[in-house]
Amino acid sequence: MRGTRVLVLNSGSSSVKYQLLDMTDGSRPAVGLVERIGERTSLLRHSPADGPPREREEPVADHETALKAVAEELAHDGLGLDSPELAAIGHRVVHGGRRFTEPTVIDDAVVDEIERLVPVAPLHNPANLAGIRTARALAPHLPQVAVFDTAFHATMPEYAARYAVDTAVADEHRVRRYGFHGTSHAYVSRKAAELLGREPSETNVIVLHLGNGASASAVARGRCVDTSMGLTPLEGLVMGTRSGDIDPAVVFHLTRVAGMSVDEIDILLNKRSGLLGLCGDNDMRDVLRRMESGPDAEAARLAFDIYVHRLRKYIGAYYAVLGRVDVVAFTAGVGENAAAVREAAVTGLEGLGLAVDPERNAARGGGPRLVSPPTARVAVAVVPTDEELEIATQTYALVADRPVDET
Ligand code: ADP
Repeated sequence: MRGTRVLVLNSGSSSVKYQLLDMTDGSRPAVGLVERIGERTSLLRHSPADGPPREREEPVADHETALKAVAEELAHDGLGLDSPELAAIGHRVVHGGRRFTEPTVIDDAVVDEIERLVPVAPLHNPANLAGIRTARALAPHLPQVAVFDTAFHATMPEYAARYAVDTAVADEHRVRRYGFHGTSHAYVSRKAAELLGREPSETNVIVLHLGNGASASAVARGRCVDTSMGLTPLEGLVMGTRSGDIDPAVVFHLTRVAGMSVDEIDILLNKRSGLLGLCGDNDMRDVLRRMESGPDAEAARLAFDIYVHRLRKYIGAYYAVLGRVDVVAFTAGVGENAAAVREAAVTGLEGLGLAVDPERNAARGGGPRLVSPPTARVAVAVVPTDEELEIATQTYALVADRPVDET
């Protein structure tokens, strides 16, 4: 008998986040993270459901050392990688290219293929691969599944996925819109339909995933038909430190006029732009607080207005893409918590049937909830995302029926 638990690993460039989920009841026997991998001191924070959280501060040179420490902590609670309850490990992988459009059981060929995608995801796929390689070495007896951030967007029609650039160049270098945050868009669009008491296959949703990174998607009857992030997670909405959409000629201009190198412009647009570049703060909480008063309220207000203006443009664009919208769903740190952003994003869109009810919008609550007035033509909802649960669900669905000796 296979177990009923899935360990979800999210290996980033300098961190590993993990959650152990029990698929029988959705409980989480343990969660934790290792931060500052590769720095002088790293921090491992492990929180078992049955006891107090524990912290370890020690040098963690790489992902291999990090995962070994995670395995030790899990074993300490009787939840080790050899525990019979553990059915599989699910890995978040950022870029699946065109090859991976579904969650995939990992074997050597899959590892090679993810490696081949490193040129289109140089910041993300190497860390994801390091996590996969170590986990396979530590737990060779367990099936391991890759769940791709790009996969949900694979259903985009070709006219939405292609940029209008020379086809030969685009094809040779795999230049097209892939989209990211797909696990979140999949989960939230489904939950938003559930909230309305409808089948996802009968519901059109605009999902606004507003975290540090931010992306919008248009989901028609359960399938993604457009999304705002592109070849990389730089395109689209204004984000904490990323510019989102700009005229690509800005890059030529800065090269020619400011003498900046491609790497400098890469850092400028990915790390020093967005809210941070506009007003010096990348955290929406700080922007909202500074807007209230003080000497630099004006810069914070302008940053907020630019952020919201872009958001509204995408809502309008995806309304047009979908033709009929049933629900606009806000999610992730900003989308779930910043009532002011939700309100500003739909203000003026009453003609499209969109509005928020001030009281509902201001209320704080744990689960999915409507924030539009009861009579609204289009529902506006807050739907907390849960990427770990979605990765665990997809992983478990793939391995639960496999005979144990096949893995
Ligand atoms: P990530 O993209 O790293 O997963 P999250 O989805 O957790 O991030 O979102 C993080 C962002 O959410 C923070 O940078 C912050 O701007 C925003 N945020 C969190 N709580 C609030 C809040 N109460 N009000 C406004 N913004 C918030």
